[in-house]
Amino acid sequence: MNLRFDLLPSDIAEAHQQFEGWISTARDVNEVNRLKGVFTGRKASHLTTLTELLKQTPKESKSDLGALINHLKITWETALSLRLDQLISKNSTSSIDLTLTPPVIPLGAVHPIQRLEAQIVSVFRSLGYHVEEGPEVETEENNFDGLNITPSHPARRSSDTFYFQNHPHLLLRTHTSPVQVRVLKRLSQKNKEGVSLLESLEGIRFLSPGRVYRKDEIDPTHSPMFQQVEGMLIGKNIGLHHLKGTLSYAMKALLGAEADVRFRPGYFPFVEPGCEVDVRCPLCKGQGCRVCKSSGWIEILGAGLVHPQVLSHAGIDPTVWSGFAFGMGIERIAMIISECPDLRLFFENDVRFLQSMREVR
Ligand SMILES: [Zn+2]
Repeated sequence: MNLRFDLLPSDIAEAHQQFEGWISTARDVNEVNRLKGVFTGRKASHLTTLTELLKQTPKESKSDLGALINHLKITWETALSLRLDQLISKNSTSSIDLTLTPPVIPLGAVHPIQRLEAQIVSVFRSLGYHVEEGPEVETEENNFDGLNITPSHPARRSSDTFYFQNHPHLLLRTHTSPVQVRVLKRLSQKNKEGVSLLESLEGIRFLSPGRVYRKDEIDPTHSPMFQQVEGMLIGKNIGLHHLKGTLSYAMKALLGAEADVRFRPGYFPFVEPGCEVDVRCPLCKGQGCRVCKSSGWIEILGAGLVHPQVLSHAGIDPTVWSGFAFGMGIERIAMIISECPDLRLFFENDVRFLQSMREVR
């Protein structure tokens, strides 16, 4: 069918002739939209003019004009949307600004508990200690008997300790002290000449960090799982002065040179004498605050001279050898250092909390 372009009003015919030129030179989306308004817009466009014209056209030319309008409508709309697509895709590639600062990708960091554990280990490494590790599933013997904890001791109750149902003598260790028992047993072994490993080493000093488990309800200061660092030194003629010197030095290295340490008598079955060690509250400098419960001091670890029973249970002669041991809760120290009042925050892994911990020494 031949299209009757002669039916077009002269201004529209002229505009149509220029349409392709205008479309190809349109430089941006706004320009295309302006052309869209002029040619196919809903109001006062060439298309609306032609639709009006169709109504007044005599019957015999109506179908010719109708076909022409249809053809123009499709031609214009197709060309307009093609040009729009071109401009949009061109824009999206040219809009990459290489001078912009790239987005910051957040980096991971060592967990504050792990970081503190590493700090504690490094302080004691400088004093010649090495790290010994033991299993989290322990025997009742290593966890209690070997540490002079009698069968009637309340810590052994199943309301306090996680025992394995089908293996009543296996449990989740309640402290890192069974590592002491394991190491001492190993050291008591003798070679062919009858010389024990402890004798050939002339003593030992080690740290054992790790997770421990107790049947505690979760609250701001308790958790059924927490982390301890245990330390032990065995030698000859070891006394309380060695213990005090070592722990005073270590606490200053860990908490700052101004850290003040005091020793109080304390009872633990595996040491004799035993002591509890306090540091002057780093938050209020001893003036008294909520964290130190107005006492100015915070209990930070338990310690003492190794009980002769512990040595002889492992096969070591307590008349020849002596030593000291100490243990501390890592989360507890982290809470003190960071002024964090809630233990649970260290386990919940809320990134906002962990980020705030980055700044804490
Ligand atoms: Zn205080």
